Amino acid sequence: MINDSVWVGPHFQAIEFRCNCGCGENEVHQGVVHVLEEVRKTVGVPLRVSSGVRCPSHNAKCGGAPNSFHQPQENGRGYAADFTFSNTALKTPINIIRLYMLASEELGDEGGAILYPTWVHIDFRGALGKPRYRSSQGKYNWPRIGPGLVTKYPHSQT
Ligand SMILES: [Zn+2]
Ligand SMILES: [Zn+2]
Repeated sequence: MINDSVWVGPHFQAIEFRCNCGCGENEVHQGVVHVLEEVRKTVGVPLRVSSGVRCPSHNAKCGGAPNSFHQPQENGRGYAADFTFSNTALKTPINIIRLYMLASEELGDEGGAILYPTWVHIDFRGALGKPRYRSSQGKYNWPRIGPGLVTKYPHSQT
């Protein structure tokens, strides 16, 4: 845990990544912050982290995957974040896809992004999260689509 008021990037403070359960876990992989900073720079408007670090009990409570990268990894840091626009009026489908594409590009081979109706998930899981790898496993339809959209687009898999 670090002080909530610490600026972990030019536009983000530790408190923004704090577990929503109140346990205080707030340390996040620096790469996550870097991706958010780069996306923010491009879109030019404030972003909101809707879910950063999740302790295991909160992760279970909010329905996260059992192996979710939101949970602190061996070094005590969360390796994932869900984010969207701070301004609700900007959360149009096209704008959310812009966030997804910008984040995917910035993640390179180090992680992956998942598209949800009104937010984007990013994590640092390595090549496993990338389109080509998942495609070779028969698992990938671009873009990676979150569970909330699966019923609308049955060909997608998460
Ligand atoms: Zn917690
Ligand atoms: Zn997430």
